[in-house]
Amino acid sequence: MKILVLNAGSSSLKYALYETTPEAAASDSDRLVSEGLIERVTEMKDALREAFDELTPLLKGEVIAGVGHRVVHGGSFPGAMVIDAAVEQAIDELSALAPLHNPRSLAAYRAARAHVPDAVHVAVFDTAFHQTMPQHAYAYAIPPRFLEEKKIRRYGFHGISHRSVALRFAKLQGKSPEDFRVIICHLGNGCSVCAVDRGRSVDTSMGFTPLEGLVMGARSGDMDASALLHLIIREGEDPAALLQMLNNESGMKAISGISNDMRDVLSAADSGNERARFAVDAFCYRAKKFIGAYLAAMNGADALIFTAGIGENSAAVRAGICAGLDSLGIALDAELNSAKLPGARPIGNSAIPVWVVPTEEQVTIARDTLGCIHSR
Ligand code: AMP
Repeated sequence: MKILVLNAGSSSLKYALYETTPEAAASDSDRLVSEGLIERVTEMKDALREAFDELTPLLKGEVIAGVGHRVVHGGSFPGAMVIDAAVEQAIDELSALAPLHNPRSLAAYRAARAHVPDAVHVAVFDTAFHQTMPQHAYAYAIPPRFLEEKKIRRYGFHGISHRSVALRFAKLQGKSPEDFRVIICHLGNGCSVCAVDRGRSVDTSMGFTPLEGLVMGARSGDMDASALLHLIIREGEDPAALLQMLNNESGMKAISGISNDMRDVLSAADSGNERARFAVDAFCYRAKKFIGAYLAAMNGADALIFTAGIGENSAAVRAGICAGLDSLGIALDAELNSAKLPGARPIGNSAIPVWVVPTEEQVTIARDTLGCIHSR
């Protein structure tokens, strides 16, 4: 059956059409029919029209049975949901917590529903995987009314990616995710580390929003909340401008003064640019701290795994993060780490093995959608 996956970003729409069945999903033999990226999207309905113009001839008259929508913020939803009026309303209400993302997903959903009203539309949430975090990991240490009344807590993001990587790693070992404790570094435009204890997320570096945690391309990651309050209360800075600064003008872009793209920053650092070197060091150092924290949280780990654009492709960043972790049982093999090979592979045979495992967000969304269709 044909499943369409839609991933609506703040100014783009990624789409992918899969041919799959429960048997194909179980044996990793789902087939990618076509995929595309539409950039500089202003109206989702125009982007969807463009995507359907591309895909319709490929369907050869077959219907699209399901559409899987990536939704960044799913609040307390613990898994994928068929989108009905109540789920649509919940995603809409969660827009307050993810103003850059959820409204775009909803716009894509509404436009897609107009094209394929008879398909089963499913929301697959980035937060859902982290709903297994224990309260001591997800609660901020502030009065409980903020959690109870205002839903201020750590939600975690990149859950589709972390879940797909944990599962892929287990399959490569011929085992189940329940057999392992793994630490996954998803290092892309956004970056997060996740502690996955026997298949369940027990902690992750992103929090109430995807701003918390690591130094990212243009996001600051962790900083003392009172520094921001100081800027607002004492220095008269505009809160909305500060939010924009933290999400779009910070991270590698701010520290290096060059770019939010790790490739540009690495090449400047290699040419002797000191700010760029400092940015790479700050990026690696922050990631290293979270790895140490999650080794403590799980009393060890059975693997350290790198994924996403930087994690899969940058030997230099992986080396920077793993440097000096040998006393904790983590060491890269320089040759394996620098080999430019595609696909999942070991890059360190230390006491805690180190791996690269490509993220499989798209096909995971397709499989979740298929699962929802079959369990209706
Ligand atoms: P993603 O969000 O997973 O698409 O990752 C995007 C990020 O991956 C960009 O910031 C790029 O800087 C980074 N990236 C992609 N390829 C490389 C590479 N070969 N070396 C370093 N960074 C890379």
